[in-house]
Amino acid sequence: MDFKKYVRDIENFPKQGVGFKDITPLLKDPAAFKAASEELLRFIGDEKVDVVVGMESRGFFYGPVLALALNAGFVPVRKVGKLPHHKISHTYDLEYGTDTLEIHADAINTGDRVVIHDDVLATGGTAKATCQLIEALGGVVVQCNFLLELTTLRGASKLDGYVVNSLMRY
Ligand code: AMP
Repeated sequence: MDFKKYVRDIENFPKQGVGFKDITPLLKDPAAFKAASEELLRFIGDEKVDVVVGMESRGFFYGPVLALALNAGFVPVRKVGKLPHHKISHTYDLEYGTDTLEIHADAINTGDRVVIHDDVLATGGTAKATCQLIEALGGVVVQCNFLLELTTLRGASKLDGYVVNSLMRY
């Protein structure tokens, strides 16, 4: 299936100079939505997975879908201040300023095998911070799984040492 047909380019969103990849047409089309989940699962194959971690907020679309199919749990990684219980944080650098992601401290058990999922791999900062949160709790990241990768931003090289898979590359 030509999945790129279901990704809409929105120029200058959410700010000037950004070419936003809008995956909502993919989610809306039943056949494409399902086929994309099957392809994402094919990347994972027979890997034993205990937990799928999805990053706020567009990692929450497919993350739970993958978790159900894998008979794994789903854990959200959220922006600062959103999680209600005991949590750990990781702050990372952006082009201008910093960002902080959080995960519940009891969300990952030592030795848990974890797949992280998000819609877009851009610079890799979000994914790297997520891997660091998981590892701080004793989890093992078995794969970083994305719908699409913006290759010019070289996010995969920031994730050096991790298995990185994406359905579409731009
Ligand atoms: P990064 O940390 O730079 O890899 O950015 C990845 C995060 O920002 C993901 O959670 C994406 O949802 C979002 N993101 C970054 N760039 C884009 C883009 N061009 N279109 C849609 N989402 C994006």
